[in-house]
Formats: sequence, C-alpha cells, structure tokens
Amino acid sequence: MRIKIAAGNWKMNTTLEEGRRLINAITEGLLNNPSPLSPNELQVVFGVPFITLESAVDMTKEHKQIKIAAQNCCSEEKGAFTGEVSAAMIRSTGAQCVIIGHSERREYFNESHAMLAKKVDVALKNNLIPIFCCGEKLEIRHKNDHFDLVKKQIEESLFHLNPDLFAHVVIAYEPVWAIGTGVTATPQQAQEMHNVIRNFINKRYGNSISNSTTILYGGSVNAGNAGELFSQPDVDGGLIGGASLKADEFLKIIHSF
Ligand code: PEP
Repeated sequence: MRIKIAAGNWKMNTTLEEGRRLINAITEGLLNNPSPLSPNELQVVFGVPFITLESAVDMTKEHKQIKIAAQNCCSEEKGAFTGEVSAAMIRSTGAQCVIIGHSERREYFNESHAMLAKKVDVALKNNLIPIFCCGEKLEIRHKNDHFDLVKKQIEESLFHLNPDLFAHVVIAYEPVWAIGTGVTATPQQAQEMHNVIRNFINKRYGNSISNSTTILYGGSVNAGNAGELFSQPDVDGGLIGGASLKADEFLKIIHSF
C-alpha cells in the first residue's frame, strides 16, 4: 500500500531559533502521543527554510517517522548562479525531500513546466524525493479546464521520467484558490481530482506505480477538516502551510489519519 504523508510547508517563516522551537514542540508531542501508524505507513515531513535544514535533520535523526524537506532547489547542478541552492547542497545537509513547483514559485518566480522538469531531474539525481505541486487557479476551474491543466503540469514536468524514477515522486494537488485562503476544496473536489491524477499516472506507468504513488492534498488544511479530506480513497495526506506552523494544530493533523 502507498505511504501516507503529513508534510508541513513553512514557507518563508521562522528564524533558526523559532524553527528549532517548532521542531522541538512537534517531536515532543509525537513522542508523548505517537501516531498509531508506523513509519512505514505514515511519514511526517517538515518543509523548512534552507537555513534550518541542517538543524532540523540533526534534531530529528532518531525519529524514523520524520523527514526533512527543502522548499525549492535550483534547476542547475552547480556554478555561477548567485544566491541559488542546489539539490546536492540540500542533500548534503541530510534532508531527504524537496518541494518542487509550489504555486507561489510558479507565480512569483516564473517557474515553467520545463524548468520544473529540470528541478525534478536534479532532485532525483541527488537522491531527494520531489514533492511535486500542481493545481489550478479559480478562473481555470470556472472554465472547467482544471483537469486538463493539472494533467499538463504533470505530463510536462514528470512524464519524461522512466518508471523507476517516477516511483520516487510524491504529488501534491494544491488548488491555488485554496492556498492560504481559508477556503478548502471539499473532500469530493479533492477526491475527484486525485482520482483523475491517479488514472492519468496509470495510463502512463501502469497499475503498480499508480497505486503506490502518494498524492497529497494542499490548500487550507487544518485540524478540523484534515480527517475527512484524508479519508478519501485517493487522498494520501496533505501538504500543509499555515497550520504546520502551530505545533498543536499540526499534531492534530498528524493524528487525523
Ligand atoms: C501550502 O503552502 O502549500 C499550503 C497549502 O498553504 P495553506 O495550508 O496555508 O493553505
């Protein structure tokens, strides 16, 4: 069966000290009240700022259920790209995952399908699990073009991968209209899109891979709505922004599986 994931995306929040406090609070909470699911069934991911990666890895290394993610990586391997952070640098901190193609990066940093395909490639080459984000803006949904758009995002940035590599990818469906807005997709809307995505993967890679691909939902997930969203058959967990910055709330989300 595919693995479930509760992944936090801290975005550009938390200084190093604040980040350490948050990690402490969540890991303590998990030690005192562990999830009934084993690390093989449920993984918890902290998507932290670059400056926090090494500390986060260090603070969680005994905790088999927790993985650390960066929120972006450069599409180039190395060289004269001042201010960028490479996949190899991220991996060298001990982090195991990287969020790729978040809608904020697509929107504010003009990340194209082709650039995201390169980011996916460098991530996989450096043994990082890409958490690949896709999702439509509201006007696209109103035009009923949301399924085609999400398929295009996936096709153009992921479907060049051979099956062995694609098997490492985690997908996060995040409708842009639900990110940071307090408006969540209904469980039915999330399930509908996740099912379309899984069938699309099935057509390209077959049953075994489509059944084992973890597909997360993201967009205003909180402790109150996580249980119903995560109980949908094709929703394997969440990518959580705002609510991942509050230890109590994130712990409740972890316990809603
Ligand atoms: C996100 O940042 O990916 C996200 C889904 O944010 P929020 O949970 O705050 O909507």
